[in-house]
Amino acid sequence: MTSSSDLPILIVDDEAVNRELLVRRLTRSGYQTVAVESGAAALSYLDTHQVSTVMLDVQMPGLSGLEVLQAIRRRWSDAQLPVLMVTAKGEAEDIVNALELGASDYITKPIDYRVALARLKTQLSRKDAEDRLRASEERYALAAQGANDGLWDWDLKTGRLYYSTRWKAIVGCTDEEVGDGPDEWFGRVHSEDLPRLHYELEEHLAGRSAHFENEHRVRHKGGAFRWVLTRGLAIRDDQGRPIRMAGSQSDITDGKIVDALTGLPNRVLLVDRLDRLLATRRTKTGAVLAVLFLDLDGFKTINDGMGHLFGDELLRAVAGRLRQCLRSSDTIARSTDDTTPKGLPPEHTIGRIGGDEFVVLLHEVRNVVDATQVAERIHRALSAPFDIAGRNVFTNASIGIALSGPQYKRADDMLRDADTAMYRAKASGKGRSEVFDANMRDQVIERMHLDTALRLAVERREFIPFFQPLVDLRSGKLYGFEALIRWQRPERGIVPPGDFIPLLLENRLIVPAGRTFFADVCALLREWQARHPQAADLRINVNFAGPQFSEVDLLDRLLEMLDESGLTPQQLVVEITESTAIADADHAIEVLNRIRDAGFRIVLDDFGTGYSSLSYLELLPINGIKLDRSFIARESRHPAILKAVIVLATELGLSVTAEGIETLAQCDEVRRLGCSYGQGYLFGKPMPPDVTGQLIASDPEWVTDMSLAPVAQR
Ligand code: C2E
Ligand code: MG
Ligand code: MG
Repeated sequence: MTSSSDLPILIVDDEAVNRELLVRRLTRSGYQTVAVESGAAALSYLDTHQVSTVMLDVQMPGLSGLEVLQAIRRRWSDAQLPVLMVTAKGEAEDIVNALELGASDYITKPIDYRVALARLKTQLSRKDAEDRLRASEERYALAAQGANDGLWDWDLKTGRLYYSTRWKAIVGCTDEEVGDGPDEWFGRVHSEDLPRLHYELEEHLAGRSAHFENEHRVRHKGGAFRWVLTRGLAIRDDQGRPIRMAGSQSDITDGKIVDALTGLPNRVLLVDRLDRLLATRRTKTGAVLAVLFLDLDGFKTINDGMGHLFGDELLRAVAGRLRQCLRSSDTIARSTDDTTPKGLPPEHTIGRIGGDEFVVLLHEVRNVVDATQVAERIHRALSAPFDIAGRNVFTNASIGIALSGPQYKRADDMLRDADTAMYRAKASGKGRSEVFDANMRDQVIERMHLDTALRLAVERREFIPFFQPLVDLRSGKLYGFEALIRWQRPERGIVPPGDFIPLLLENRLIVPAGRTFFADVCALLREWQARHPQAADLRINVNFAGPQFSEVDLLDRLLEMLDESGLTPQQLVVEITESTAIADADHAIEVLNRIRDAGFRIVLDDFGTGYSSLSYLELLPINGIKLDRSFIARESRHPAILKAVIVLATELGLSVTAEGIETLAQCDEVRRLGCSYGQGYLFGKPMPPDVTGQLIASDPEWVTDMSLAPVAQR
């Protein structure tokens, strides 16, 4: 019988970020997962595959989560296939509907992973119990006959528990070494497995399960844990009270600890070994233990493009190369096969702990230099092409390294830190390695807090616009403002965008945040226009980021919000960065064309920081460019380039705004070179809405402050 742990959890969510996070978290907790991006894909997957449970997003384009749920329930009962709904917080109606339609349980977004895992576990164990009920009768009989099984017999009245010779041998003991109390058994069980074992036992003794069956780890005399599968049956008196219980126990360690694809130790064995190493290593001084966490670069692309069989072949080849490379290594003098021989521990362990994730444990190195040298060796070994099915394939690995120290008591902690370092390595370019340091963990924790705080901030509308003057350099008059987002963080004050925009982009909260921001800007402009006649012709620049352009209804929403405040698109300028425009140029051009056709002006922000591709200037439907501050700053000024860019842009009919003007000299220069608009601390820093209102009312003019006489109107 397949137990839930052998089957994947099917994750259905239209947002890639959500899918990836869930997959990572669940994989990390030892579950297998499959993720799909739509209801239709989920149903077609279920047509041909078995899964243990489904985690289903309620809000999806196309088939909604509730529709998918209905389709599932037409074919499978709750007992056959649990479905966990993932709903937005506060959508009580969704939850009620889902439960009515046969959802097994629900969790809310943002997902609290501890809660999610607990609920998932409940569903899976419930399903397993149901499955077992159906299939266990004959299986129990068969299993009990297995010659390799240990046997136990528990007299529930006296509390004495008989163990067979084979049972004792599984835990490495002779007949005399094991007594006849329950503690001989339960005292050897891994603390993580004990609650579940007790639970299963009680379920059966109380008559709630037809048979008792549990997989758990028992400590072998040598200190290592062995995996056992134990099954049993209670014998009851005429009133149904259990009086005796007997069963079998088989050693299933080999099946449990080896990765079937590569033959390498799997996560279970690796964690077990690392735990033991950490326990012994702590008493020793000098040498340290290193964890190298490898994640193949670009594996997903290869796997998706060439097919899973091809991908499997590559994983096997990588495993082979890792073995070979560590064996022939000088830093690792002696190497053995992957099982622990008595006496002499092997000096490294290679394992595969998930899809394309490998771990190398270096049982004893002198220091970080040794560990990074091994990482380098691995990089070199992987850099040669792999010959898979007659094709040359290239892959390398990003490697995160963690070294043992007193802070590590558990394998999981060390693996987590090596994983964090691996992410850092990936982010800094592929095929590299990075050593973990405590700062990284602090940063990860800080990020998690920030993520939560930002989710709340969006709900509570804690973002506010500041406004920085845009000056018409030809007349010296106020031309408009750039609206710049600020986060008014409770108890912390004003947070600048650099501290939170990157995360808003990553978790896509920029989309809802950007919407309310735009609405707030419109409302303020409207208010100023109502109060000050000078505000009639002001333009407001608003920044837009990549994810906002993938919203299908972006333009409709913008127009709607303008409509609500009685403004026209002509009063707003959309700022996009070069990288946004270029990342997906075809799409960007299409969306921008529609936005411009609707009457908005569009300017390319931060020109000069990215590709500064002049050819794009012709392709993109923009009205102007904003020269990045670095262009204007004295240190890096290249007057010839600056001049060429301005001339070219002007010839293409584009307006040119100079950003970051801080001094009169800079102002003079950009005016002389032909920039029409300027922005910078010289004219004013970004300021809160009330101060902006006062500035508008004062009808400011800057040109009189300038050393140059106004240049002729261009
Ligand atoms: P940006 O769009 O290029 O905005 C100009 C940035 O340069 C602003 O920083 C502004 O305060 C700063 N700046 C202007 N003049 C000077 C100067 O003379 N000297 C110096 N040193 N700095 C000057 P800020 O407000 O911190 O914004 C940083 C960036 O954050 C913006 O760069 C923009 O990319 C992003 N951002 C701000 N608001 C939003 C928003 O609502 N949505 C999106 N997607 N991005 C935003
Ligand atoms: Mg900008
Ligand atoms: Mg800019």
